[in-house]
Amino acid sequence: MTISGGKKFVPFFLAVFLIAPGACSKKIHRVSRPLLGTIINLTFIAEDHEAPGAAEAVFDEIARIEKLMSPYRTGSDIDRLNRLAHQRPVTVSEETFRLVEHSTAISMESGGAFDITFASMARLYKNSEGSFAPPDQGALREALKLVDYRHLLLNPAKKSIFYKHKGVRISLGAIAKGYAVRRGIEMLKSRGITSAIVEEGGDLQVTGTRYGTLWRTGIRHPRENDLMAAFDMRSGESIATSGDYERFTSHGGKKYHHIIDPRTGKPTETFASVSVIADDPVAADAWATALFVMGLDRGMKLLKRRSDLQVVLVGLDGRVHASSSLKKRLKFFKPVKVEWL
Ligand code: AMP
Ligand code: MG
Repeated sequence: MTISGGKKFVPFFLAVFLIAPGACSKKIHRVSRPLLGTIINLTFIAEDHEAPGAAEAVFDEIARIEKLMSPYRTGSDIDRLNRLAHQRPVTVSEETFRLVEHSTAISMESGGAFDITFASMARLYKNSEGSFAPPDQGALREALKLVDYRHLLLNPAKKSIFYKHKGVRISLGAIAKGYAVRRGIEMLKSRGITSAIVEEGGDLQVTGTRYGTLWRTGIRHPRENDLMAAFDMRSGESIATSGDYERFTSHGGKKYHHIIDPRTGKPTETFASVSVIADDPVAADAWATALFVMGLDRGMKLLKRRSDLQVVLVGLDGRVHASSSLKKRLKFFKPVKVEWL
């Protein structure tokens, strides 16, 4: 190879650069950070110089949401509500108010299966050292009286919330992840990034495509450390999964997971996992939890009315039910007999 042979390529590269300035330098960036008690994973197509600022803007936004809505952060909206709202109405941010309002609407529509006041009894699952302990039956019965979304009085004009009883507590654990995902995508779009996935502990929303190909995501197998199905997502779609494998502990040979049936105060025994596909990540997150509590029969009745929610339901017996609208889109990795809804 001569030096002059190499030189021949210089004008060619320059020409490409001049014809399509910048177009070649956009590439896929992947950035992760622990926040909201889970890991946030960002995937987006951007110029190298845009990427760090864009990722930082998303993480800052999610950290802001955590500060506003975590029940464990002193001074957050939820902390103030849980300490003071049984004495007087407490004014909260517009965002928190809207999520609480949305939560109560889902409580009504799900017949009380989804209920953010489950938090009134959640502390019974902890002993004095803060580690797990199954609750005493009598204490559970008493605390269950406080679990009812109708104990929350919402004043939309003042953005204030009043708790009817002392001891009522709320937590947005089943819906705030979806809100953070939605805001993450909005932050990227506001910076001109139009191809992205914002994922948070399995819940995600996509926008745009991967260089013209739909973004592909996977649905985890609830009983194997592997994916069960792949799924091509249209721009704007989101998916959220609630599973009994996500957070659980075992005690006396029994598994206790983190989704509580507000009627019994105990972990539900319905599905192994529920995935919901919807345009709004907030709805996907909340309805995955709600359907998880509702179980198959109640869930199917609801799904007949809600054509905006598509689902993949995996029962405790391993049976899979899925929306027939997903028939052509779900690619199972192993042969599975699916009952199409
Ligand atoms: P997800 O992973 O979205 O299904 O949310 C699970 C979280 O939702 C739990 O860790 C609790 O914080 C909260 N949660 C549990 N049971 C309920 C319920 N019945 N209604 C609303 N939130 C709940
Ligand atoms: Mg949820």
